Amino acid sequence: MTPPAWGLNTTAVHAGRADLTDLGVHALPIDFSTTNPLPSVAGGGDAYENLATGGRPNGTHGTHVYRRLWNPTVGRFEDAVASFEPMTAHGDATQAVAFATGMAAITAVVLSRVKTGKPHVVGIRPLYGGTDHLLEHGLLGTNITYTDVHGLSAAITNDTGLIVLESPGNPTLELIDIREVARIAGDVPVMVDNTFASSILQHPLELGATFSMHSATKYIGGHGDAMGGVVITSAEHAGELRAVRAITGGLLDPMSAFLLHRGLPTMPIRVKHQQEHALALATWLTARTEIARVHYPGLPACDPHGLVGAGRQMLGGGAMVSIDMAGGFDAAQRLCARLQLVLHAVSLGGVDTLIQHPAALTHRPVAAAAKPGQGVLRISVGLEDAEDIIADFAQALE
Ligand SMILES: *Cc1c(COP(=O)(O)O)cnc(C)c1O
Repeated sequence: MTPPAWGLNTTAVHAGRADLTDLGVHALPIDFSTTNPLPSVAGGGDAYENLATGGRPNGTHGTHVYRRLWNPTVGRFEDAVASFEPMTAHGDATQAVAFATGMAAITAVVLSRVKTGKPHVVGIRPLYGGTDHLLEHGLLGTNITYTDVHGLSAAITNDTGLIVLESPGNPTLELIDIREVARIAGDVPVMVDNTFASSILQHPLELGATFSMHSATKYIGGHGDAMGGVVITSAEHAGELRAVRAITGGLLDPMSAFLLHRGLPTMPIRVKHQQEHALALATWLTARTEIARVHYPGLPACDPHGLVGAGRQMLGGGAMVSIDMAGGFDAAQRLCARLQLVLHAVSLGGVDTLIQHPAALTHRPVAAAAKPGQGVLRISVGLEDAEDIIADFAQALE
């Protein structure tokens, strides 16, 4: 749909809108139908069969049957998101599949792999607390082995259906070499949770990953008012995800699809500006004695293999910063209470700066041995003036 020659900014503004002029509209249309007129019993049945088994509407049967099987507003958003990572490392065209939340997206990827009869998952920590919890719990019929890149080869068995990683990792922003993981993984699919980097700074599929997963609730939406999850992958895997989605019902709703799609045109400019502010804040925090350690992928100390600095993996350090307070939990609690401009709240990727305590909140369900420290705070840096964000930290640390 998108001419491959387009740059990222043009893609962001125009993706998923190619037919709007023909439709005679400028804003994205929303289709709220939960059911659709059937052309005939046989035609409706054929359309159902196609969509329920993971097909996309093929135009032949002229109906989407029922919203859980297909919604045009969601499909339009999916086409737009896929155009940010148009090709796999093997040169296959990609498709995106959208879900009600990031966790619904992860669930569908895991279920689509369990369905192939390979229920073993290898996880590389740190992962988002919800993902860690889901895999640790085994709710979806998986069993999990946690390891690092060095232990990966030994952790893979004949039953391994999926390898899961995040880079930068949540919450301490560790960088994992995606290319190296994909190489070691061989034929085992790798899912990269690309939420923190976004498609603006990192393209996991080009690096050899099979699934590029995003909590669209974060940078894609960007305004803290819509939830969603999206997975970009090959057409074959996308079909498997749609089939799981049709059965389990994790479809994104059209209003959220509209809001998330509306976030895309400003995503490049938001991410790049927020990244500049994050670098300024991280650099300033590094000089403060109240802070034992600053984790930010754009600082050379946090990027020993040049994955950011040498542009091997990420086009910049992103807009998330973590700090480890020298005074531990009490100091972390005090800082959250004293900040005035910066909001004490979970989530990330929106226009305003947020801070939260991972061990108490986002990573609460993580096993004790892998839980972030009690002095760790995670900051999602926003679009305010960097001087104002820094001034707020300065007054709160006094
Ligand atoms: C928020 C988040 C998720 C979960 O997404 P939801 O939309 O909240 O379900 C998964 N991974 C990461 C890295 C996240 O930040």
